[in-house]
Amino acid sequence: MTRVVLFDIDGTLIRTGGAGVRAFARTAELAFGRAGGTATLRFHGRTDTSLVREFLGLHDFADTPDLRDHFLATYLFLLDEELERQRGETCPGVRELIASLRALPNPPLIGLLTGNVRVGAALKLAAHGLDSDFLLGAFGDDHENRNELAAIAQKRAAQMLGAPVAGAEIIVIGDTLADIECAHAIGARCVAVATGGDSLPQLLAHSPALALNSLADVSAERLLAAGQHWERPTDWEALYQARDTRWDKGEPTPALVDFLREHPEFVAQGGTVAVPGCGRGHDARAWAKAGFHAQGFDFAPTAIAEANAADNTGLEASFYQADFLAGKPPRPFDWLFEHTLFCAIPPARRDDYVRSVARWVSPGGHYLAVNYLQPQDEFGPPFGATVSELLARFSPQFELVKHWVPRSFPGRTGRERCFLWRRR
Ligand SMILES: [Mg+2]
Repeated sequence: MTRVVLFDIDGTLIRTGGAGVRAFARTAELAFGRAGGTATLRFHGRTDTSLVREFLGLHDFADTPDLRDHFLATYLFLLDEELERQRGETCPGVRELIASLRALPNPPLIGLLTGNVRVGAALKLAAHGLDSDFLLGAFGDDHENRNELAAIAQKRAAQMLGAPVAGAEIIVIGDTLADIECAHAIGARCVAVATGGDSLPQLLAHSPALALNSLADVSAERLLAAGQHWERPTDWEALYQARDTRWDKGEPTPALVDFLREHPEFVAQGGTVAVPGCGRGHDARAWAKAGFHAQGFDFAPTAIAEANAADNTGLEASFYQADFLAGKPPRPFDWLFEHTLFCAIPPARRDDYVRSVARWVSPGGHYLAVNYLQPQDEFGPPFGATVSELLARFSPQFELVKHWVPRSFPGRTGRERCFLWRRR
């Protein structure tokens, strides 16, 4: 259960259009005589205190509490002025999300977890009318290390609620890898949003519980359930019979097409390839066209009938009904390829899935997967996975050759990741 929701400020709640960065730069010039002295600082995801200390160090000032206070006092004065001139914008969906969190029957405690010093946070939020929405916070003047701020926020939440709060009961919402890291530092779940520093694929690579293009894409209920899977019973055969197969785009997955084109060394070697969850066989046929001996397998007899009925002329492609999780492989394969299979399997059966892949692939053979990292719907299938989960599950039996963000079908862009593994 989620009892506490902690928001980052810059890039998550609001975008100030660089007011903070400009106030920093003007402080360096006006109070310290160092025009351009903050140009090399990386601001995203940092605490104000760590930025000030880095500035002092870079310019050979003594790192004393007095000088830090002098910097921050000037900065806050100039920040106020900069915000007056240009306050920037509230990020999409923020007001609606906060309102719907507060309207829940058991609303979570809503707070801040930000690298801004307390007064800077208040100035930025007041400029957007958001200053009265947060009941607690941890700020850049509480600690210069963001991971410590998460622990401080957790302690303050426990004090307010009058009982200990487990990390798993906390959701941290932020726009950078630093937000994901600080959530993980206390065992909290991070909902990462690509409205600030980092892109959706960059965020997904660091295994947030949920990643979004914008907070306008999420309901309060879905947000609080981030990292949990809710299963919808699925009769695959019935879906094929009803022709309700939205995952089938009528062509091989773009990631596979690119892979076969970009890896002539593998294509030249050829070999056998199994495609479990092959559906109507588009991916298996792409392997066969590249010269491989391809066998497709699917749980749904209708999918297999349609795969066999398609034009397989001149191709080494054949299709069989099989239960990939339970069945024995007809032979060990040099390659196993999958797209939309792992994500279709209930998360409780993921161990069985890993064992099956290991059974089907010869030692030294390859497993190429296009994994769906996170769907937007709370109900699966498809079920999302995180990069860290995939690495942990497959590493014991497979050596990771490489992973990358592939070209995807529209609607999945940035949410898929390819993994090429070699069987140990
Ligand atoms: Mg931020």
